[in-house]
This record gives sequence, structure tokens and C-alpha cells, in this order.
Amino acid sequence: MRRGLVLLLLLLPALAWGPKGHEAIVQYAIWNLPPGELKSAFARWQAELRDASLDPDRRRNRVPGEAHRHFFSAELFEPWPFPSFPMPLAEAERRFGKATLDEGGVLPWAIEESYRALVAALKSGDHAAILRAAGDLAHYLGDAHQPLHTTLDFDGQAWLNGGIHALFESTLLDAFFDERAEYRPRPARAVEEGALALAFAVIREDYPLVPVLNEELWKAKRLYSEFDRRYYRMLWRGLFGEVARVQLRRAGGRLSSLYLTAWIEAGRPALR
Ligand SMILES: [Zn+2]
Repeated sequence: MRRGLVLLLLLLPALAWGPKGHEAIVQYAIWNLPPGELKSAFARWQAELRDASLDPDRRRNRVPGEAHRHFFSAELFEPWPFPSFPMPLAEAERRFGKATLDEGGVLPWAIEESYRALVAALKSGDHAAILRAAGDLAHYLGDAHQPLHTTLDFDGQAWLNGGIHALFESTLLDAFFDERAEYRPRPARAVEEGALALAFAVIREDYPLVPVLNEELWKAKRLYSEFDRRYYRMLWRGLFGEVARVQLRRAGGRLSSLYLTAWIEAGRPALR
């Protein structure tokens, strides 16, 4: 991996979506589940699950290899709409080389791995393992819904929009986002295509939002001379807020679907 890039990645804000966004995704997923065993258990464990969804960022600079699990720089592999994907990680390594994967990230496979871990944990009934896997899945799926986690140009470098990453995923959420006010139901469904195909579908859907966000910020910076609260409010009421709200709801809808599918695959166990 290029030395400069490694450094930049380490300097990236540690919390994609910020805690507010990641916790909202978990909350939405619980609300979206159909009434029954799974929903009542996850609702009981709500506080622990919300907290577990922040763990991957907490261990990001501590655990070797963790940082690469939070992004997928899709254009490094092939142009949009990335027709060769999904493919298993081993196949991607053969085809693109380990160095490219180190640089490009492994986010879609982190989603798949956490899904498999959740199925195993639900089968075993191990409470701590269920929380860990459900939290990891929530986190990585959430990261995949942040369009700036799907591109090499993760901080608007090519647009001279440095700072767009933290602005979009945490500064504006911290200032204006209210999860209850923004919730719209997206009922869970069985994910027949599998977790990996779903992960790549999310990235395919997100990626075109990268230039949209950058253009919007470019326009906003010309309109405002001072980057104060009025400027932030204008961004939140416009396209930045709209994209953030839609992406968080989409993530919550898909997370509920993966939770439900994992529970069905585990044999619909009783949870206590
Ligand atoms: Zn992350």
C-alpha cells in the first residue's frame, strides 16, 4: 500500500457516521423487525446492541487489519457498476492481488463474515457472541451506506473538498440529526441473494452519490463566505441531510433483513 495513503487512513476520523448514526441504524433495525422472538430479544438488548455497533471503530487502530474492514475503494478494482462483483474474497485476492485489497479495503467481506458469525452465535445461544456479531454487522453495513467509504476519493481530495467526510458523517449529524424524527419503517425481508451480494448492491447504489455530494459542497462553499451554523443548517436542509437520512434508513432496513435472515438460518432459536 502507498505510504501516504496508509497515513491518511490512520488520520481519518475514527467514527464513520459518528456514534449517532451507527446507533440509529441499530435502533431502526430493531423497530423494523416483525413482532416475535427475535424482535423482543433485540429490543431487550437494545442498549447493548447500540453500544456494540461502535466497537469496530474502537478497535480500529488497535487490531491489525481492522482499518481495512471499514471501506471499499471500488474504483480501484473496476469502473462502476462493478459487474465482476460479488465474488469470494479468495477469488478477489487471486484476481486483483493482495496489495490491491490491502489498499482498496475489504468492507463487503467484513459484512459477510459478521453475518456468518451471527448465524453461528444465534445457533450456539452465546449471548456475548450474538451481541458482538450483531454489533459488527450493524457497523460494517452502516459504513457501506456512507458513500465516501466506497471510494479512493474518501475525503473529496479530487474536488478540493477536504473535510467533506467528517462533515457529512458526523458534524452535521451531531448538530441536527434526531433518530426518532427521521425514522420511517422499512420492514425486514428474507435476504435470498445472500449477505455478500447485498453488500455489493449497497456499494453499487452508493457510489454515484460521491460526485453528487461533492458538487453540492462545491456549490455551497461559493454561496457562503463563513462556515458557521447557518451554513451547516443549509447543508442539512438540502441534499447533505437528505442523503444522510435516506442512507441511515436504508441501512436500518437492510440490517433488520440480515438479522431476520440470520435468525431463520440459525433455525429460529429461542433467545434469552
Ligand atoms: Zn467504521
